[in-house]
Amino acid sequence: MDVSGVYTTKSMANLIDCIKLETHSSYPKTTRNKGLPQKVDISVWRALLRRLPTRSELDKHEIDLDTILCPLCNTNVESVEHILINCQEAAKIWELLAKWWNANIA
Ligand SMILES: [Zn+2]
Repeated sequence: MDVSGVYTTKSMANLIDCIKLETHSSYPKTTRNKGLPQKVDISVWRALLRRLPTRSELDKHEIDLDTILCPLCNTNVESVEHILINCQEAAKIWELLAKWWNANIA
């Protein structure tokens, strides 16, 4: 239901997005990319907010882990920046995915 009290599918979609995206006034608004699956779009938005459950983030929330090192390279702390940008082992996986999707990520 929107502010006028009228139910529309758009108002329900907005409500679901608010709940799923944990919308908060201090968070940047997501700019929905209609070309991406919603789970990918939400994951990108969560990465920007550093809300992906990387080992460094879990450690900050006092989750007991054996290690906070990246499970792919085992040399650096697993952070959002590391898994998405700096990890050479993750980069190999991104390259395989790009090849599978016929996408140019170079
Ligand atoms: Zn790594």
